[in-house]
Amino acid sequence: MKKDRFLPSKNKHISKTINSIYITKQPPKWTFVLLVVVHLFTSFLTTQAAISHDSIIFLGNTIPVQVFAGVFSSLANVCIIFLVVFFRKYGFITAITVLALQFPRLIVSIFLHHNLATIQGFFTNALAIIACVVIYLNKTKIEQYQSKFRHEAVTDTLTGLPNRFACTEVINNFIKNGFEFSLVSIDLNNFKSVNDTMGHEIGDKMLIEIASRWKALMDLRQSKTIDFIARLGGDEFALVIMGYFDSNGIHNTINAYKAALEKTITIDDCDYFMTACFGCAEFPADAVNSTALFSCADAALHEIKRLNSSNCIMHYSDELLKTEQLLETERKLRTALDNDDVQFYLQPQYDASHKLRGFEALARIKDTDGSFLRPDDFIPVAEKAGLIDRVDIQVFRKAAFFMSDVLKKSGNIIMSVNISVRHLMKNNFMEEIKGIISSSGVPASNFEIEITESIMIDSAEKALQRIDEIKKMGFKIAIDDFGTGYSSLSYLNKFPADSLKIDKSFIDEMNSSDSSKQYVATIISIGHTLNLKVISEGVEMPDQLETLCSIGGDYIQGFIWGKPMPPEEAAKLV
Ligand code: C2E
Ligand code: CA
Ligand code: CA
Repeated sequence: MKKDRFLPSKNKHISKTINSIYITKQPPKWTFVLLVVVHLFTSFLTTQAAISHDSIIFLGNTIPVQVFAGVFSSLANVCIIFLVVFFRKYGFITAITVLALQFPRLIVSIFLHHNLATIQGFFTNALAIIACVVIYLNKTKIEQYQSKFRHEAVTDTLTGLPNRFACTEVINNFIKNGFEFSLVSIDLNNFKSVNDTMGHEIGDKMLIEIASRWKALMDLRQSKTIDFIARLGGDEFALVIMGYFDSNGIHNTINAYKAALEKTITIDDCDYFMTACFGCAEFPADAVNSTALFSCADAALHEIKRLNSSNCIMHYSDELLKTEQLLETERKLRTALDNDDVQFYLQPQYDASHKLRGFEALARIKDTDGSFLRPDDFIPVAEKAGLIDRVDIQVFRKAAFFMSDVLKKSGNIIMSVNISVRHLMKNNFMEEIKGIISSSGVPASNFEIEITESIMIDSAEKALQRIDEIKKMGFKIAIDDFGTGYSSLSYLNKFPADSLKIDKSFIDEMNSSDSSKQYVATIISIGHTLNLKVISEGVEMPDQLETLCSIGGDYIQGFIWGKPMPPEEAAKLV
């Protein structure tokens, strides 16, 4: 990607932006000139008004011009105070000079022209000088503190580099000005083991040394680009690069920082070697705000760390974020599993007369912000990571204990649980479900195990054996998502199921054409021929309900009569 040519004026602007995080802003210079001019003019008017014997007529009243002397004098003094407050030393010197220069004129007026009206001006002037001195001294003290605090707020105390706050400020400023730049997330390799084996003191010295090398590189512009390096915390750094022509420019700069890092680090006469990984994202190509840009750079960094290859620089691509999201989902999933924190919601199933048949237990995982991760996101991840059996079992176990409570109170309801094909085929599957049945005390006949239609295609004979075993224990079997696979009728005939669940996609389409309706009617009639109960999934609209009742659907599961709900709510429904 070609970049704009880098202009010196832009260069200056960037340096200013970077400096602005350390220095409090001053008002523009023209306000300084304006204050001085207004002060001189109102001082002149004060004297003229003070010696005037004229009057003016305002709204029928006669007002002596002398009255205005006070007004002009106050205005003049306000200008002086603003000068001292806003322009620090220069404002103070100018204010004192201007006030002092008025004394000769006042003295001449009083003593030579015997104009006693100016005595008031003399004292006002003297008091203004005292006020300026007091304000200036106070303000200087406060500003010293302010600048100390500001410096501390934007500086990392250990290394003296700008910190995360400063880095975000600079990035936001660059974004606001529409500058193109690259953000590089840097993470030192194996720094933790340095800390653990050599102690924190050596670790700190190493960080200080690395920071000083990188700071020198930044200050001396050795990389041929404009850089800004910050320490974000621990062994994480961020490098902002500007003023490159193409991606080679970015690469060269990263390599310069990499080379500086990889030179031997000698601490207390011992040599150390340090390396790092670099993940890079560009504004505006990859992201348009600072949070997203950090995420992109971090995604690239995590990927290069995960790959563990000799190449330690990675540029962000959209593909990466997907990988990153999947990894993040996997992390959350593992945490939930380890903490026994996979929860379940229950979606009611009714017969055609709206009598409760039971519930389907659907896995839920709470995200850090309190919302739920979607099963459509985490179930495929669980399948791929080989964690699906742990999900199934947690849901099954918790749903079983829910059932043991509910059955004591009332009804003879069915709890449907989803079991993945991979899980079903595992050697210890039978022991697991026997354990749940005996510990919960709920008869197997109150459970229905939902297995997707795909099992008939993928696992054939071996799966049939397993399903027979489950069946013998008393469990009911449902074929889930029926219609989405390509199972043969002869196989369906052999399959010892009790019910089949028509997939939502067919229910959605059902009323759009006569043939779609016939299709669903055929599934129902095949089901009935094979002695299976038919459950229609994803029923949302009254016309779908009406059609299903007219073509003989046995059970309804859908938002129209009930969304998945927390167990406490489901218990009330029973
Ligand atoms: P599924 O087994 O087909 O479950 C039905 C899904 O359809 C549920 O989504 C349910 O909320 C949704 N649904 C039901 N009625 C309606 C409706 O009227 N309208 C709409 N728009 N949606 C409806 P959910 O809870 O997101 O689950 C998605 C899938 O995740 C499930 O599809 C199932 O395949 C899988 N899953 C959920 N829990 C588990 C589990 O514990 N183990 C395994 N292996 N898979 C699970
Ligand atoms: Ca299901
Ligand atoms: Ca389904």
